[in-house]
Amino acid sequence: GMSVKKICCIGAGYVGGPTCSVIAYKCPELQVTVVDVNPQRIAQWNSDELPIFEPSLDEVVKSCRGRNLFFSTDVDQAILEAELIFISVNTPTKNYGLGKGRAADLKFVESCARRIAEIAKSSKIVVEKSTVPVKAAESITNILKANVKPGIKYQVLSNPEFLAEGTAIGDLLNPDRVLIGGEQTSEGQEAVSALGWVYQHWVPREKIITMNTWSSELSKLAANAFLAQRISSINAMSAICEVTGADVSEVAHAIGTDSRIGNKFLKASIGFGGSCFQKDVLNLVYLCECLNLPEVAAYWQKVVDINDYQRRRFSNQIIQRLFNTVTSKTIAILGFAFKKDTGDTRESSAIYICQHLLEEGAHINIYDPKVKKEQILKDLSSRPEIFDSPDRLNELVTICPDAYTAAADSHALVICTEWDEFANLDYKKIYSHMLKPAFVFDGRLILDHNSLLDLGFHVEVIGKRLTRDISRVVRTPAAGST
Ligand code: NAD
Repeated sequence: GMSVKKICCIGAGYVGGPTCSVIAYKCPELQVTVVDVNPQRIAQWNSDELPIFEPSLDEVVKSCRGRNLFFSTDVDQAILEAELIFISVNTPTKNYGLGKGRAADLKFVESCARRIAEIAKSSKIVVEKSTVPVKAAESITNILKANVKPGIKYQVLSNPEFLAEGTAIGDLLNPDRVLIGGEQTSEGQEAVSALGWVYQHWVPREKIITMNTWSSELSKLAANAFLAQRISSINAMSAICEVTGADVSEVAHAIGTDSRIGNKFLKASIGFGGSCFQKDVLNLVYLCECLNLPEVAAYWQKVVDINDYQRRRFSNQIIQRLFNTVTSKTIAILGFAFKKDTGDTRESSAIYICQHLLEEGAHINIYDPKVKKEQILKDLSSRPEIFDSPDRLNELVTICPDAYTAAADSHALVICTEWDEFANLDYKKIYSHMLKPAFVFDGRLILDHNSLLDLGFHVEVIGKRLTRDISRVVRTPAAGST
């Protein structure tokens, strides 16, 4: 049988790092080595300042690092020693060539497979942890088998990761389920059992679901497509609410009490972000096109289209409410991460909202409790055509140390991320330091809108009309001149 003593994980990112830290934490007799080609990332994993922020991650890493958890750049040594190898590298949307803008780029996964084939001197279980298109395991198997040395056997498993950033450690310690897909042969099933045994150290047996490889690969894309679809569905409703007087939170509550629908993931917002939802839905769309299923592709494509629409709709609302121009006005942006409790900004809606406002020549003051200044500036410069000179970005964008500094002397405050601290700010103080009329745009539905109205703010929220009387808003500052 295959007994697992050493595990290697290729890719020390948002998935590889936390996942393997929890495995090491829960399986003290296993040696877990996480490797990466990026030496800076590995140095950070070995330091006091981990490369990613995730609640409780520090504690888990500290409790086993140097004991049975190691971070290293020596990819080959870790491959040589391990019986089980996770491939947890990034699979971004291809930005070139065939399938550009939609297909998942599998070049990093493939290079891992080639490395394993070249280095291995003993049999390995290779576990596809990265999110991949259906049948990717077949490509990995083909690469391994075409380069196999005598006496070595490979089994490729699919074991997609369902953790969500911001709650990764809780999700890993107490998963809804663990999914393992493998070949329907005795060797395949033996490999499935070996990986299942690792998880059984802390996951109840009934939560470990096994199935064929292709079902497992598709299930990950399906799960993310369904989750993204719920957000786009409630966001589509929010647009109806804004023109009819219905309130999207009330609608969400009403439909969420239907046990078939359920109440989670029904909050209207400025759209989903993060590295996965858009990438994985587009991956699915491209897969459908390749499989000659254009109607299915079009169906899922709309989920991404509505997300783009929602972001654009929100930016347009800000511009319209500020008397149809934000040029040279100052707008405070609260939150830049794609959701609370993470420092990750990949595909964050805040990037798009800010870029829309910058296109109009607005000055923006940005505050986020966890995102570094360099990251924000890098994200905003992803569309260099917005800035007619290199200095323009620094001219228009100010990164602030707190929400109060960001809001001071601004025309509008925009909530882009649902950080808890934004609900508890002293809005009276903020109001007194803002230009009047002072606007709040709550893109995450986290503020107490009535008390903001009482303070004198003009409040705009997704999916609900609060200040309907635009003439009142316009007249206030000019009242003396009539
Ligand atoms: P990431 O970019 O944070 O980390 C990937 C790491 O792999 C990088 O540090 C990179 O340097 C390294 N790498 C790339 N090629 C390598 C190679 N050949 N050898 C060694 N290291 C290499 O990505 P991530 O967010 O951890 O995502 C990894 C995979 O997991 C993706 O397929 C993603 O879709 C999936 N996933 C992500 C999440 C999430 O919330 N981030 C959740 C579930 C699944």
